[in-house]
Amino acid sequence: MSRFPLPPNATIGLVGGGQLGRMSALAAARLGYRCHILTREIDSPAQQVSYGVTISDYADPVSLRAFAAAVDVISFEFENVSAEGLDLLASLKPVRPSPHILRISQDRVTEKSFLNDAGAPTAPWVPVGSLAELQEAVGHLGLPAVLKTTRLGYDGKGQATLRALGDLAPAFERLEPKPLVLEGFVDFAQEISVIVARGADGAVSAFDTVENRHRNHILDLTLAPARIPEAVDQAAQATARRVAEALDLVGLLAVEMFVDAAGRVLVNEIAPRPHNSGHWTIDACPASQFELHIRAIAGLPLPPAERHSDAVMKNLVGPDDTALWPDILATPGLIPHLYGKAEARPGRKMGHVTRLFPRGSLPGDFGVRAALGVLGRE
Ligand code: AMP
Repeated sequence: MSRFPLPPNATIGLVGGGQLGRMSALAAARLGYRCHILTREIDSPAQQVSYGVTISDYADPVSLRAFAAAVDVISFEFENVSAEGLDLLASLKPVRPSPHILRISQDRVTEKSFLNDAGAPTAPWVPVGSLAELQEAVGHLGLPAVLKTTRLGYDGKGQATLRALGDLAPAFERLEPKPLVLEGFVDFAQEISVIVARGADGAVSAFDTVENRHRNHILDLTLAPARIPEAVDQAAQATARRVAEALDLVGLLAVEMFVDAAGRVLVNEIAPRPHNSGHWTIDACPASQFELHIRAIAGLPLPPAERHSDAVMKNLVGPDDTALWPDILATPGLIPHLYGKAEARPGRKMGHVTRLFPRGSLPGDFGVRAALGVLGRE
């Protein structure tokens, strides 16, 4: 049986081979742990920096057993493991965060019900199983509204904004898998997020609230800290902590929220893992989101999620941003991170850069653009 805290040289199993696994594995290595990755991909970003790998489908029981046998604790950077796969893993080794949390975050309807029950407000929503139900839901929520798949959506995939009645049938036909969920449209002033770690002893560390900007439905910029009124910040922090407590989280949780025109904080979605909007913490905090993730699942003490600097994080997406890599390396002040992906497909997250500012001196939009050098050009 695994004993906590995990001793140095213990092996952490990570499901998923992407950049979140890669950066978690780097943080784990610094704490003296080995990582073993379960991934479908050959030559994945996480495998390149890890001790071991099992390359397999996430549903194959033989591979899941081999993976579990090689590790002391199991965590995730990829959430969409089947219920049976999760149950099998949990029967073999401690799984942190617990499978019930992954199940909640895998399904938007389960997630929103849970959030609302926990006292975390969301946009109004209605489950939609048929075109007739969609028409009825639009009658309740009005237009515009956002229609989403309940499962397997990310980076704006699996959703459609409905603006006119003529949009209903084509959107319902196109979005797969069914069932769907209709959300009221939030005319948001800002998108923000809070990343919170919670240990098995109930200790909580939450990073400062940050502001997120998207481009083509993909995160483009994160500004730390968010430029929001104190009351909004307090509401965001309190919401993130409340959700972590209500989930009985052991691990890391990202809570993405909208701030609406009236200054209300509404949760969009939660992810029980490191998050793109927390990459700035690697460079701007003594202990990053990845270190807190590893500490929480390994049973180590959680340090405060302090920030020594303000920061801007810019994602490097697809071939256009990748082409700027030589310029990025030649620009003083840009802290480069590349994920080791061989092929720069459009929309693929290839890396990110961070730019630090002394605490309290995060510039406005113009200054942020200027500070990003070649990456700040529109
Ligand atoms: P999601 O896949 O739920 O994270 O949504 C991706 C992006 O779509 C969000 O970051 C928002 O920019 C936008 N979006 C999602 N849901 C809504 C909504 N209910 N109202 C307005 N914009 C939304």
